[in-house]
Amino acid sequence: MAETAGVHTSTDMPLPASMKAWVLGDPGQLHLIEKPLPVPGRAEVLVRIDAVAICATDLEIIEHGTPALIQGGPPFNKNFTPGHEYMGTIAALGPGVDEYGIGERVTVEIHAGCGQCKRCRQGMYTSCHNYGLNYGAVDKGHRANGFTTDGGFAEYAVNHINTLSRVPDGMSDEEATLVVTAGTSMYGLTELGGLVAGESVVVTGPGPIGLLAVAVAKALGASPVILSGTRDARLAIGTKLGADRVVNINNEDLVAVVREMTGRGADYVVECAGTGATINEAAKMVNRGGRICLAAFPHEPVLVDIGALVKNNVYVYGIRGEGRSATHRAMALMAARRFDATLIHTHTFPLAELPTALHYARNRIDDAIKVVVKTRGAVTRARNAVA
Ligand SMILES: [Zn+2]
Ligand SMILES: [Zn+2]
Repeated sequence: MAETAGVHTSTDMPLPASMKAWVLGDPGQLHLIEKPLPVPGRAEVLVRIDAVAICATDLEIIEHGTPALIQGGPPFNKNFTPGHEYMGTIAALGPGVDEYGIGERVTVEIHAGCGQCKRCRQGMYTSCHNYGLNYGAVDKGHRANGFTTDGGFAEYAVNHINTLSRVPDGMSDEEATLVVTAGTSMYGLTELGGLVAGESVVVTGPGPIGLLAVAVAKALGASPVILSGTRDARLAIGTKLGADRVVNINNEDLVAVVREMTGRGADYVVECAGTGATINEAAKMVNRGGRICLAAFPHEPVLVDIGALVKNNVYVYGIRGEGRSATHRAMALMAARRFDATLIHTHTFPLAELPTALHYARNRIDDAIKVVVKTRGAVTRARNAVA
């Protein structure tokens, strides 16, 4: 790589000629292979990956392909490396990059977009109109690592500098992998208008995005914040992350609780469960003129009382990913220790054990929430002690 024109390397970070990378074969099949080191282009850096968290979307891509799009089609048998929630250390600088230095710790967001379409220009690069167009005669330079370009289940990846956030010294590698999840929650609240201080927020579904939506909403001053779900262990984590009230919908009527606590219903609902029932309930518990963010989705069409939404001037926002630099705002809150995202990190595995790590995440073995894979050092399989 040292010979590649314009790429800066350092003897402090010697680079191997090749790296270990997991690649997707047929659906559900991953293989650990040696790949050449990727070379950063203009406005890009090479990141040595130190840790990567597993996301439900990774499981979706590995089993079903979508929403990954490689060379215009499904990602199978194309030498594609999935994984998108990673952090690491800058190991080489592409031509023209002076914004970062070799050796800096960074965490990444997924989407760089194409940088030239209407939505990218608006900061909505997760809705890039040139999604997946990064090959051949129609190369628009789109990047969404782990979706349309190689991702983080490997020892190195190339990232556009706009996708990077610096990691403060006191933050662990594992915690830094969670910034993009918190960034997704932040993006939801951003699209809802952002000014949630003193406003009531209901979060439905205590998955990683829902739990961190509670944490971010609380850090931004929302009150009360109500979290619903079906598993008490996860709801207890929501309480630790700042929820004023948790509702196990197997035992209580969520709409009734929200109405009782807020009077006229919630100002904002962040719907992270993605079932027909929870989406329809969101419409029932939001107040007149209130706003609903749909951060998860069912795979089948669902019946929702649209009449109630229209008659009550309710705004509905679908969000994808972590646009408008939301990860930077999430990192600011995490760096300031406004909430402890590590409460959702439950398990750690070495990179060589990725299939086992995916198995834990998919089947929620041992109450797994966020499973992190570490690429360096003597990593042993571990369950975090969630106090
Ligand atoms: Zn993700
Ligand atoms: Zn674009």
